Amino acid sequence: MIIILNPDIGDKSPEYRQILDYLANKPNIQTRVHVEAGAIRTLTEIYLIGDTLSLDKAEIEGLPGVERVVRISEEYRIVGRHQDDTRSVSFEYNGVLFDQDNLNVFAGLCAVDTPEHVEKMMRALRDNNQACTRMGAYKPRTNPYAFQGHGAKCLPWVFELAGKYGIKVIAMEITHDSHLDEIREALEKTGKPTGVMLQIGTRNTQNFELLKIVGRQRELPVLLKRGFGITLEESLNAAEYLASEGNRHIVFGLRGMKTNMGDPHRNFVDFAHVPVVKRLTRMPVCIDPSHSVGSRDHAPDGILDVQHVTAQGVIAGANMVLVDFHPAPSKALVDGPQALRLDELPYFLEDIAIAREAYEKRRALTRRFQEESK
Ligand code: PEP
Ligand code: MN
Repeated sequence: MIIILNPDIGDKSPEYRQILDYLANKPNIQTRVHVEAGAIRTLTEIYLIGDTLSLDKAEIEGLPGVERVVRISEEYRIVGRHQDDTRSVSFEYNGVLFDQDNLNVFAGLCAVDTPEHVEKMMRALRDNNQACTRMGAYKPRTNPYAFQGHGAKCLPWVFELAGKYGIKVIAMEITHDSHLDEIREALEKTGKPTGVMLQIGTRNTQNFELLKIVGRQRELPVLLKRGFGITLEESLNAAEYLASEGNRHIVFGLRGMKTNMGDPHRNFVDFAHVPVVKRLTRMPVCIDPSHSVGSRDHAPDGILDVQHVTAQGVIAGANMVLVDFHPAPSKALVDGPQALRLDELPYFLEDIAIAREAYEKRRALTRRFQEESK
């Protein structure tokens, strides 16, 4: 059970004291408090563990300072969407809003290579009014002899270039807790010209120790990719690991699944699960069309498969698109064959806008239908 307090009823207020006193008189109930200090308001939630079935929901809702009480199912206690629970995990990071209702595009390099390429990418983003990007500094590679990413040494200049071009959030994969320290240190040293969303890649979805460490810090938000060979439930539990350690600023990423069916795509595209994840949890949902499709193949209509699957995810309500671009794909050190070119950026963004508009029209249509059928 979760007791959601009215905004700005903090853990120092008399109302809070009164609620805790009330609970202290109930047998076998433990409490755990989560305070989410936002820029505008602070939200406090009291998690009740133990014999909550014996509690009277209406009575608690009648206590001063209580906004709502939600009975939670066992699954995904924090990130889950429980019965009558309309809340979404909504958070702002470095001026960018993430929730289940909006859409952010993170176009950028799969792997940071040269300062020239990074600068060209960021300039193109600025020229197209984009405030987010992806930049891999630590690359988990199948082949031990393949380029592993520039690591910590590229961070200062990548962050400075991001600041120069007005980039607010960089999605950056980490594969070890030392990478988290390196990123924080580089952000500090460069005066935080930009922000970083820590990406947990599909190979690390169930790296529980990494999840715990990333979840324990609440400064940087997290993009958690779905594990490519595990069930959806297992991947959602991985998100719950992050949240249970304290960090709820999580975006859940779909990136295609490994199947034994092989071609035509690098992974079996799973964007039909966008609405499923939104139904089961309150997290914003990201799609990664590049790592799903893995090529620049196109249909006879001339539209790239990467674009087709992006549109499919966006028309189903995706909240973030993580996509590989490169100023010179043939020179990219990682995943060049799936990268889009910079001259394709405005075209790609316009294509996304069409799909997003269609999604919004579908929502409006559904609202109208529901109104009329009342
Ligand atoms: C990536 O986004 O660069 C990446 C390696 O993705 P994934 O973990 O989905 O394979
Ligand atoms: Mn890649």
